[in-house]
Amino acid sequence: MDPSETAEHDTGPPPPGAPHMTPEELRLWGGRFLDWVAGYHERIEDFPVLSQVRPGEVAAGLPDSPPAEPEGFDAVLGDLDRVIVPGLTHWQAPGFFAFFPTPATGPAILGDLLSSGLGVQGMLWASSPACTELETRVMDWLVDLCGLPRRFRSDGPGGGVIQDSASSSALCALVAARERALRGVAGRTVADLVVYTSEHAHSSIYKSARIAGFGAERIRYVGSDPTHAMSPEALATAVAADRAAGLVPAAVVATVGTTSSLALDPVARLADIAGAEGMWIHVDGALAGAAAVCAEFRFVNRGLDAVDSYCFNPHKWLLTNLDCTAMWVADRQSLTDALSVTPEYLRNPESERGTVIDYRDWQVPLGRRFRSLKLWLVLRWYGAAGLQAHIRSGVAWAQQFAGWVRAHPDFSLAAPAPLSLVCFRHRGGDEANRRVLAAVNDEGRFYITHTVLDGQYTLRLSVGAVATRAHHVEAAWEAITAAAANL
Ligand code: PLP
Repeated sequence: MDPSETAEHDTGPPPPGAPHMTPEELRLWGGRFLDWVAGYHERIEDFPVLSQVRPGEVAAGLPDSPPAEPEGFDAVLGDLDRVIVPGLTHWQAPGFFAFFPTPATGPAILGDLLSSGLGVQGMLWASSPACTELETRVMDWLVDLCGLPRRFRSDGPGGGVIQDSASSSALCALVAARERALRGVAGRTVADLVVYTSEHAHSSIYKSARIAGFGAERIRYVGSDPTHAMSPEALATAVAADRAAGLVPAAVVATVGTTSSLALDPVARLADIAGAEGMWIHVDGALAGAAAVCAEFRFVNRGLDAVDSYCFNPHKWLLTNLDCTAMWVADRQSLTDALSVTPEYLRNPESERGTVIDYRDWQVPLGRRFRSLKLWLVLRWYGAAGLQAHIRSGVAWAQQFAGWVRAHPDFSLAAPAPLSLVCFRHRGGDEANRRVLAAVNDEGRFYITHTVLDGQYTLRLSVGAVATRAHHVEAAWEAITAAAANL
């Protein structure tokens, strides 16, 4: 449209603009909302851990249409208590022993607030230099803090990046693996490439491989040993069979701390096979990786000095709220070669000179939040000593629980419990275990979940919520044994 045509609409007084919140109002409401959040944490034990609402109940408490006019925020605070809180499963409750921990700590909450408040977009170094440089620095700090291989540090060819999830990390790693594999074999396509992972790997590995273009029939679930860890012999056999069939083994995804049972794949041996076969090896350390802040648990790092990429989730066990996945690569160029696409409007002198990191080239989306702020605040608030105290107490309480299971005539461990997750069963079989789980969860103070291991229904108790103390773990065991006594 010719701009002059719009002139006829420019009659009358200028519009007043939207009723934005002023800095003064932000200060006022910010105080009240933070107060509400702090109060929520204070009241956390007053709620049943597992939400009691039926499907549709939360939606029924909300109007069908959005407000036509601005609303007072007092009503919002009221609705939080009336509609939202009853529909929450309280992941921050001390009796939350389900799935895996997802911490909301004070420093991480404040870091997220800063990120939102600054509202910068860290897609390029040039789009907010501090966003990139703080991220690089805290990722290097984490390498040192966790005793990770130095090749992951940014002062060599490697480097770290904060992703939104372990799933995205696996996706980026597999895209890089695909590109590297195709560069090495002329005349082949992704249809010829094979990915190997364990039958106990997280479902996100399959999903990532599919999104990265690998065929469903080219994703191999390698068998595992009795501890549910991937078998190197089975991997070698599968790779040999695929080579014989004319396929191209491209990537291995190992897990350090599987979701079901925290099984630890033998990364060093798998990396040997991957190296000999020219395959990319990615390691998913989603939950267990955080344990490496303690020197005595660095067995979770074994073999990482020979892998191409690795990630773990500070948003699971390292006191940082969602979302924050720490991912490292040994050779950052293989990642950026696979993920970098540069339109004219993103060109800028610093990127062209190649002297800066542009994290948009390390991830799927273009845009990125200032996530390193919350990790920075967490690291500064707790220090290494505070983080270690959290990991050590979680492991100690889980080990105590495992001891009670071992000593009980009706219960047994279903898997080794190397860290903070205990998988166990009542000897009464699947139905008895289902009933124990239901009885414990119905009571309201605790939430535990299940998995299936070796074909049997298995209970899982995962320790790591910020508010959990030894007595909560003890009370959970009492509730479990009481439920078993009533079978
Ligand atoms: N990998 C493992 C071993 C996990 O336990 C989980 C979460 O349960 C994931 C990946 C998925 O993590 P995210 O939600 O960060 O993608």
